[in-house]
Amino acid sequence: MARYLVIGGVAGGATAAARLRRLDEKADIIIYERGSHVSYANCGLPYYLGDVIRERNRLFVQTAAGFKNRFNIEARVGTEVTAINKKEKSILVKDLATGKISSSGYDRLVLSPGAEPVRPPIPGIDTDGIFTLRNVADTDRIKKHLHEKRPKKALVVGGGFIGLEMAENLRGLGIDVTVVEMADQVMANLDREIASEVHQQLASQGVELILKDGVISFEKTGNSIMTRLSSGREIEAGMVILSIGVKPDTKLAREAGLALGPRGGIAVNEFLQTSDPDIYAVGDAVEFTHPLTGQPVITFLAGPANKQGRIAADNIVNGNSKKYGGSIATAVAKIFSLTVASTGANEKMLKSSGIPYMASITHSASHATYYPGATQMSVKILFSPSDGTLYGAQIAGYDGVDKRIDVFSSVIGRGGNVRDLLEFDHAYAPPYSSAKDPVNIAGFAAENILDGLSRIIHWHEMTGLDLSSTVLIDVRTAGEFRMGTIPGAINIPVDDLRGRLDGIPRNKKIVIFCAVGLRGHVAARMMLQSGFSDVSNLAGGYKTYSLAMNNIPGTAVTCC
Ligand code: FAD
Repeated sequence: MARYLVIGGVAGGATAAARLRRLDEKADIIIYERGSHVSYANCGLPYYLGDVIRERNRLFVQTAAGFKNRFNIEARVGTEVTAINKKEKSILVKDLATGKISSSGYDRLVLSPGAEPVRPPIPGIDTDGIFTLRNVADTDRIKKHLHEKRPKKALVVGGGFIGLEMAENLRGLGIDVTVVEMADQVMANLDREIASEVHQQLASQGVELILKDGVISFEKTGNSIMTRLSSGREIEAGMVILSIGVKPDTKLAREAGLALGPRGGIAVNEFLQTSDPDIYAVGDAVEFTHPLTGQPVITFLAGPANKQGRIAADNIVNGNSKKYGGSIATAVAKIFSLTVASTGANEKMLKSSGIPYMASITHSASHATYYPGATQMSVKILFSPSDGTLYGAQIAGYDGVDKRIDVFSSVIGRGGNVRDLLEFDHAYAPPYSSAKDPVNIAGFAAENILDGLSRIIHWHEMTGLDLSSTVLIDVRTAGEFRMGTIPGAINIPVDDLRGRLDGIPRNKKIVIFCAVGLRGHVAARMMLQSGFSDVSNLAGGYKTYSLAMNNIPGTAVTCC
């Protein structure tokens, strides 16, 4: 009878253990989990804190007793594995309640220890009222603080998805929230123009966002915490959520002499086997090669952890037969009423990997605009300038973002091309989509760029325009023009343009823009076919430009 031990009993570990049982009814299977719960919903924790999920019990997908009853798996909560002896194929286990240490042998070991929040040595970081959020114990501590101290103001340090989900949930409890982020944008998985939509959403929900500023100290002042920022600004709040990132929990693996990868995660081969063939590792702690960039990556997401858990179990029971192809980190987050999602590589990743790319930005309706309730979504895609291979997609919108990002993920995952997007055969009825889905439209725009039918210019290139040699034409209506435009632009509405071409100098570079890029494309095609040779259209139009340049009236974004 084989003996399988699993370290870590949540996403990857619980999945691996259950699959091991489904494949090997006879095996002895034990999960060691140092927390007091197995298989709980980490992803639901912010929503429980915000009272969106009201019953604590709902967070527990499976219990230790449930594992025993259904799977005949022993899930030993409150036990920490403190050492692995690879040679003897055994582990040391500490019972956290009694302090008792015992040893346990294995045939195969699965590591799924997850990640731990980054806690830099900032003065005052251990002050009462400063929290990180990773597990149920953290959640209980935060909940208690919320109930007992009833803070009126909270500071969230870090603008990643956990920080922003917390900002939303705390705001939902009526708490004033400030988010401080060291970078010039939130959510590092997004490029600036898509992240700008999140900035705008936070402002519209009354969340103050401070960018390009970092915490230098915390100090207790009565019932509050005074946080000092490098800009000199001081923020007093009744609680602080520290969510400046996570790092793989590799202590055990490191001390056992297992190989780590260049990014500090546990190194695994395509079968999810560590440098010791009897030890497999999955989840947030492992490092693998990114399928697109070829660079080592760690993906801190539940989907990959679950999928890896299943593959590792298959390989343990059946021999190494299933390969893990890597993750393109498809992710989605709800930021108040906005949904943002990304898949594949973003510009930063492509640049740092030296991969040439082109980008297109389109703004499309979530469903037919004549059917009530349609909203606009911004879709950015990145692709190869030579063959159109799709590298990445990012979407911000209010409805239908999740289904579109999964389509892009599927195309990227199969090595697909932007031309595959054109032909994507989608389900259409007015309440759900349009005859041309936003995915198709992204494909049309990219194909026009690839085929040379459309030359585009991006928002960040606009500031470098030499207006003495460029004619900047706003082809929106006179009314739209009056509401705000790009400095130096003249207004020729697209419907008047054909009759006014003679007044436009042909020896100058022409840059056209409209609200979202569509009328601009029509105008650019008209001019190119009328003898103008150097005509560019602003990708995503004035909407993308103004969001990314952060000049939407009323935004509360402050940058030092
Ligand atoms: P975990 O699920 O974290 O499990 C690791 C477990 O190992 C821990 O319980 C730990 O106590 C235990 N452990 C570690 N070392 C030992 C030891 N030596 N002995 C015994 N036990 C040990 N991902 C998404 O894709 N979508 C989301 O919406 C999302 N939301 C999230 C929200 C929050 C608040 C958090 C914290 C995470 C969220 N994630 C989300 C990330 C997702 O939860 C993780 O990617 C996933 O849980 C990783 O699985 P894992 O098995 O590697 O680690």
